[in-house]
Amino acid sequence: MKKFKGFVFTCFFAFAGNLFINQSYCLSFEIRQIADGNFVHYGVHDERSKTNLGDNANIGFIVGDTCVLVVDAGGSLSVGQLLRQAIRKTTTKPICFVVVTHAHPDHFFGAAAFKEDKPKYIGHAGLYSQLRIRERFYKKTLLQDLGDLAKGSEIIKPDIIIEAGNTLTISLGKQHDIVVKAWQPAHTDHDLTVFDKRSDVFWTGDLLFVNHVPILDFSIKSFINVMKELSMLSVANFVPGHGVPQLSWLESVNNQLSYLNIVLVETRDAIKSGLRLMDAVHVVGWTEKAEWISFDSFHRRNVTTAWTELEWE
Ligand SMILES: [Zn+2]
Repeated sequence: MKKFKGFVFTCFFAFAGNLFINQSYCLSFEIRQIADGNFVHYGVHDERSKTNLGDNANIGFIVGDTCVLVVDAGGSLSVGQLLRQAIRKTTTKPICFVVVTHAHPDHFFGAAAFKEDKPKYIGHAGLYSQLRIRERFYKKTLLQDLGDLAKGSEIIKPDIIIEAGNTLTISLGKQHDIVVKAWQPAHTDHDLTVFDKRSDVFWTGDLLFVNHVPILDFSIKSFINVMKELSMLSVANFVPGHGVPQLSWLESVNNQLSYLNIVLVETRDAIKSGLRLMDAVHVVGWTEKAEWISFDSFHRRNVTTAWTELEWE
């Protein structure tokens, strides 16, 4: 298989009105071809900043015979524009679909970069309401982190929605079907995945984290149920929501499942033993710390989310 590696290296200049404030930000944007027609940009693990412009999630595109399908658009308009430039360096085919896997800003804020292509935006049936609920907070914090570079980053209402448990099959050409699946609650309550049947590539969105600590934004019990379903799948190539795959599909899924099970069991034990949440977040699951990047930033919140669910059992 022909492997493609491409770079887009772009500098953004910040303006305050008409005044040039003498700051520029440069981002190298690498695209890797991981299988026939499947191109991935791996995001960084660092916290969102003016240096990385919110380039935190894994994003990419699938080139079919007829057109291009984008899987997530990155964490700011600038990242979306870089992805679009990378597509245009790869193919002149039209960009027909933009899949937004869920309503986390590192995955959707770049979506406006594709408006001029007039694609069909695709989301889970629960996506848009979550985008609207979170819009104000997400825009405020993006502005805090990126300043003027946040401009143009916006939420977009999906044209096509998929109900939980259903799939949508999109044809990108002869014998080139893409299956988009809307999952039951897992990482969030509105996750989508994308499967390229021809090239056997599974884009998981944030249903799977590699190296970066998994993030829980809904229900730990239902996330574990979905992970068990994922562990039954036979997957040759996969693109996690974060991190570069180094292990097999099953090993990667099992690592995340193990983390979630530890959080589940130890949170239950902590509740039963009468520990307070404010103390539990510093104890529950901390044997996992060495295994995951960004553990300090997200693990306590995961325990809190699990706690608010499990305390009612
Ligand atoms: Zn996410």
